[in-house]
Amino acid sequence: MKSTLSLPEGFVKTDGINLESNKKQLLVVAIIQLVVIALTVAMGVLLSKSSPMVQYDGESLLVGDLIAKIVVIILGSVAYVICHELIHGLFFKIFVPKCKLNFGVSFKYAYCGSNAYYAKIPYVVIGLAPVVVFFVVFLLLNLLLLKDWFWPIYCLQIFNLAGASGDFFVTAKLLSDKREFLLLDNGFSIAFFVKKER
Ligand SMILES: [Zn+2]
Repeated sequence: MKSTLSLPEGFVKTDGINLESNKKQLLVVAIIQLVVIALTVAMGVLLSKSSPMVQYDGESLLVGDLIAKIVVIILGSVAYVICHELIHGLFFKIFVPKCKLNFGVSFKYAYCGSNAYYAKIPYVVIGLAPVVVFFVVFLLLNLLLLKDWFWPIYCLQIFNLAGASGDFFVTAKLLSDKREFLLLDNGFSIAFFVKKER
């Protein structure tokens, strides 16, 4: 099936995924999030062994150094959220160049939707693109930067992986669903469209 700007003839709306209103799906996402946080934090502790969050000048802890790192974590998180949604948007456009995007932020989350209809595999690529791109970016920064910057960068990596729990959930749900369908993602919810039986 091909991704397309308008719904092909003979397709009808069936079910979908709505993480806002479906409490059971929301609970599953929260559990995925907790597991991801637990695993990434444990991994960070194993990897960081001798990486201090705060530098020590021989006599005292360098408070300015700690503040700089906290600022990087906060500003980095804000920049991350914006770039995460922009990457979803970029991939929405790659698969259907003429689609219209809608971006937004509520106090709970940021979102990016499109008015086009996507096939399953392109949609999985759109969903996982940000988490994969940033996994590599933060991994490289962790490997290249001085070791006392391990934790600020790694905090952003935890934020990246935990924040993508909704994307992981949607991907798992799509890949385990054997039906052929097109998806419409308005940013809040995803609707499935299947070919009507004659
Ligand atoms: Zn996302």
